[in-house]
Amino acid sequence: MARYTGPSCRLCRREGTKLFLKGDRCLTSKCAVDRRGSAPGQHGAAPKKLKEYGLQLREKEKAKRYYGVLERQFRGYFEKADKAEGVTGANLLSILERRLDNVVYRMGMAESRKEARQLVLHAHFRLNGKKVNIPSLQVKVGDVITIRSESRSLEKIKDLLEGLDTRISPKWLEIDRENGTATVVALPTREDVDFPFEENLIVELYSK
Ligand code: SF4
Repeated sequence: MARYTGPSCRLCRREGTKLFLKGDRCLTSKCAVDRRGSAPGQHGAAPKKLKEYGLQLREKEKAKRYYGVLERQFRGYFEKADKAEGVTGANLLSILERRLDNVVYRMGMAESRKEARQLVLHAHFRLNGKKVNIPSLQVKVGDVITIRSESRSLEKIKDLLEGLDTRISPKWLEIDRENGTATVVALPTREDVDFPFEENLIVELYSK
């Protein structure tokens, strides 16, 4: 399935919750969910009471949209999470958090995960000293993510480095924003995911 290229706010309105896909705008009164909570459509679809399957499906879509992942890849993450030791839902969220584009976003180097994905695709970062351009790459404990020295002089990157230093750093990353570096000091746990996912619904959906 192709990547969605329509308005981000539409996705939030569809899920009926803020997915924080547009950076700072999401925290202002311009947020479409705050202004018009209804689902997209000319007059806004009437809210439906979802049954079990509908709730499970929507929770999965929410997670996919939040992290910017397509169905096939998301399913692959679930299978990996299911095979790993521990609680499948928590494993799934940990795998999603460990994507390189999410790490760049968590570092405060991008306003949104979408922007982080673009920065990674354009190879503005190094992983353990090596140039990388794969947003889905999984980081592990001990990995060091650095902004490339060649990229630091770009206006866009300079703005990001200067303007995005207020985000709270997750405890599994040791971040040196001045030098544009993050070290993975632990694997992210369920507590490190600051969105109220009901991941058990996703597990139930895929376990049918
Ligand atoms: Fe979602 Fe952000 Fe748009 Fe609000 S402003 S609807 S949180 S993408």
